[in-house]
Amino acid sequence: MRDIHHFLNGRAVLGASGRFGDVYDPNTGKVQARVALASSAEVDTAVAQAVKAQAGWAQMNPQRRARVMFAFKGLIEANVDELALLLSSEHGKVVADARGDIQRGLEVVEFACGIPHLLKGDYTEGAGPGIDVYSMRQPLGVVAGITPFNFPAMIPLWMSAVALACGNAFILKPSEKDPSVPVRLAELALEAGLPEGVLQVVHGDREAVDVLLRHPDIKAISFVGSSDIAHYVYQQGALYGKRVQAMGGAKNHGIIMPDADLDQVVKDIVGAAYGSAGERCMALPVAVPVGAKTADAFVERMIDAARGLKVGISTDADAHYGPVVSAAHKAKVESYIQMGVDEGAELLLDGRGLKLQGHEEGYFIGPTLFDRVKPAMKTYQDEIFGPVLQIVRAETLEEAASLPSDHAYGNGVAIFTRNGLAAREFAAKVNVGMVGINVPILCPWPTTVSAAGSARPSVT
Ligand code: NAD
Repeated sequence: MRDIHHFLNGRAVLGASGRFGDVYDPNTGKVQARVALASSAEVDTAVAQAVKAQAGWAQMNPQRRARVMFAFKGLIEANVDELALLLSSEHGKVVADARGDIQRGLEVVEFACGIPHLLKGDYTEGAGPGIDVYSMRQPLGVVAGITPFNFPAMIPLWMSAVALACGNAFILKPSEKDPSVPVRLAELALEAGLPEGVLQVVHGDREAVDVLLRHPDIKAISFVGSSDIAHYVYQQGALYGKRVQAMGGAKNHGIIMPDADLDQVVKDIVGAAYGSAGERCMALPVAVPVGAKTADAFVERMIDAARGLKVGISTDADAHYGPVVSAAHKAKVESYIQMGVDEGAELLLDGRGLKLQGHEEGYFIGPTLFDRVKPAMKTYQDEIFGPVLQIVRAETLEEAASLPSDHAYGNGVAIFTRNGLAAREFAAKVNVGMVGINVPILCPWPTTVSAAGSARPSVT
């Protein structure tokens, strides 16, 4: 059995806690490796090593740190095929999506290459008689990132690249479900010239997270994951005096106006709802057609489009999407499908019970489609995070727009229309963080600094 080690002070370190988590191949349902789960003492050691390493890294001038980022970028590009296969084998997303996962993270590494410019402070002459004032941007020290399973390359890179380029040391606690790619990225960063101990990867579960949240040498925490844990991390981190950003779950709506190009809408929504088996925080699992005519036409085309999707193993180049990440997650999604039926929604396509020949134990769920979903239903209110599209019919744009605005999750929303004025007004009024106009999957772009642009935080 392959063991996945921590990556500390520039080398693989065997976990000594005696606790391990199983890492599955979602295509087969078989355990393919085990990952060490750190004890509190191991996390303490990782932090102490990072404190030592950070001092020298912070003294290096920003141009030199940027050169390490350039080299890191080149190494990620050179190793993208290997990284994508590894990612796909533990996550279950198809290799093309795994490449996208890496590419989106790489964009933040590219952004971090401009750190000498980004770190420039401000200067104010004559703030008082004979007094000039200037500001400096300085590293915090050691900061930590706790990341989810669904983007095991993008999210660790989002969090770590800029923090590192600014002169911080970074402790990464990746998801224990697909931990290999974060380790591989840390190895590449070392090869790129990052000093030992500046990027530490500690695997673990709540025990490791709790140490990071309370440790006096951790100055800031970045978290992405489910909302309950995001709340917990936010509250605990704040209690211990840390800067915390915590991104939680999502339930993104796509509003379809009667004037929308329906062929394009169906193409967009089929990808946004079912791609990566719906395991994306920016997936679009709720479609809101406006008017009965729009709804009927959309439903008819959507059934065909969803039926046309190929579910396959993650290395199948023809597959639109692969298995979900774990047996527990498969069971959770399927229980939501049953709940939808029990709540009275109209099940048009049922993806339960899908077996792939030769991969009968894989965690596959076929495309599932519900019509006539109502806002009072729990299946509408909760995040399902699987290949399930729910249609909620609305009579007017106002009614449609109130759905995402009033929903507990406020991550993203999309409107499909040819009417520029309606789109503009919708974007201004809807109470959701990111708004797409004829764009189904909104992915934050490094230079627009997504969180700062949010009208509403995604933690709910
Ligand atoms: P998760 O909350 O189960 O796990 C996230 C991280 O928290 C992991 O590192 C995990 O080990 C840790 N963790 C889990 N339980 C914990 C506990 N009790 N105490 C402390 N730490 C704990 O999330 P997940 O299932 O890995 O990821 C999917 C979720 O992430 C979805 O809800 C999705 O919407 C969300 N997500 C949000 C964004 C965003 O930008 N808002 C992006 C990607 C994913």
